[in-house]
Amino acid sequence: MKGKEMFNALVVTKDEEGKTAAAVQEIDTDQLPEGDVTVAVDYSTVNYKDGLCIGPGGGLVRNYPHVPGIDFAGTVEASDDARYKPGDKVVLTGWRVGEAHWGGYAQKARVKADWLVPLPDGITTRQAMAVGTAGFTAMLAVMALEDHGIKDGPVLVTGAAGGVGSVATAIIANLGHEVAAVTGRPETADYLTGLGATRIVPREELNETTKRPLEAETWGGCVDAVGGEMLARLLGQMKYGASVSAVGLAGGAGLPATVIPFLLRGVNLLGIDSVMQPYDNRLRAWDRIAKDLPMDKLEAMVQPATLADLPGLGRDILKGQVKGRVVVDVNA
Ligand code: NDP
Repeated sequence: MKGKEMFNALVVTKDEEGKTAAAVQEIDTDQLPEGDVTVAVDYSTVNYKDGLCIGPGGGLVRNYPHVPGIDFAGTVEASDDARYKPGDKVVLTGWRVGEAHWGGYAQKARVKADWLVPLPDGITTRQAMAVGTAGFTAMLAVMALEDHGIKDGPVLVTGAAGGVGSVATAIIANLGHEVAAVTGRPETADYLTGLGATRIVPREELNETTKRPLEAETWGGCVDAVGGEMLARLLGQMKYGASVSAVGLAGGAGLPATVIPFLLRGVNLLGIDSVMQPYDNRLRAWDRIAKDLPMDKLEAMVQPATLADLPGLGRDILKGQVKGRVVVDVNA
């Protein structure tokens, strides 16, 4: 076993008055939490939850000082678990890492072996984090739609220029479906078309409330990252028997809907949770990502960042201002 090593991390602290602050610090390996596997982290990302954890109040952080970062990819450095050996490439999403257990905003992480997944062949650690939790969740959402049958007609993706939406758009288009991408940022139209969207739907079209619980049957499926009024509205536009994978609440946690789309159109509302996915599902989703997500399109989504950029990016993602996926090179 190597002796104590120093490394950089973004550490969130809380003072006696409850005020939180996030700054890059040098810490050492003895400070890492308990776990079976120590990973030399290559990349992490910025997800909506990370924005909450870095921001004022600490969001979902359960213990201080804390290293946020709900996902990471890297190389196993030491392992007490027979499934992993030094040199193995691994990826982690979920399991409250970055909230209750120190996460990926550091050059080293120590976690439970059960939380890791071996990186599939053909994906680099950087590509894995270009996908990250958002992209992994997008894949789970698509798999759930497939399990229930995607109907004829365009598949709607809401919050399309965000992380989940961008990856969902690229995957669904690559599978041969038409994609209608809902965005509040018209300037992202070329970007979304480049990912494979065939139609851009302005956010206002779906944000306007209507008293009609049912509208024209339009969408063959939907990946919804927005929730709130937009989800309520689009439920009434789904084709008979079509499904909506509900992923997020960027537009609100309320759901001012009626039961009519479920009763009269057999619409399925599928909840997607990426955090507690069992190992086999995680492996299946990562294998599908390697197969069904064009890596050149993934590259178009990437915004590179360093640990020092994180406080600003955390604020941006909470304002819905991040385009695509932020990939944090923790060693830069
Ligand atoms: P991003 O911030 O990258 O994307 C969210 C997008 O939603 C924005 O880019 C914007 O897209 C749109 N949006 C933001 N605010 C509003 C609003 N008020 N009304 C309508 N649209 C809005 O976040 P992610 O893609 O990483 O995550 C999206 C959601 O999914 C979050 O709520 C997140 O917590 C959740 N999530 C859930 C997971 C799960 O396991 N269920 C896993 C990962 C994420 P545009 O500019 O194109 O309109």
